[in-house]
Amino acid sequence: MKVKIKKGDTVEVISGKLEDKGKRGEVINVMPSERRLVIQGVNIRTKHQKQVQTQAGRQINPGRIKFEAAVDISNVMLVCPKCSKMTRIAIQRDDTGSHRVCKQCDAVID
Ligand SMILES: [Zn+2]
Repeated sequence: MKVKIKKGDTVEVISGKLEDKGKRGEVINVMPSERRLVIQGVNIRTKHQKQVQTQAGRQINPGRIKFEAAVDISNVMLVCPKCSKMTRIAIQRDDTGSHRVCKQCDAVID
């Protein structure tokens, strides 16, 4: 199955960790080969950064860094920008190429 979600789309989490279920966010990175994507504000993890010292003895970025971890593409659904509903996508082809169409409101999303 082809990945129909692109960078810049809004998606909603439909399964996975309870705290993130129902959250919506913008897709900031897509990894089609792994079928995973990164969503702004979803699946926040904390990375413990080691203290780094420069030659001048100053510390850079000590402590914890928050970042969005990738989620499996099957855990999210696209949110239609026209009707704001979670939707499945139909692909419509015409002379100009293929377009994604919302199955809820028939709006062309591309
Ligand atoms: Zn729609």
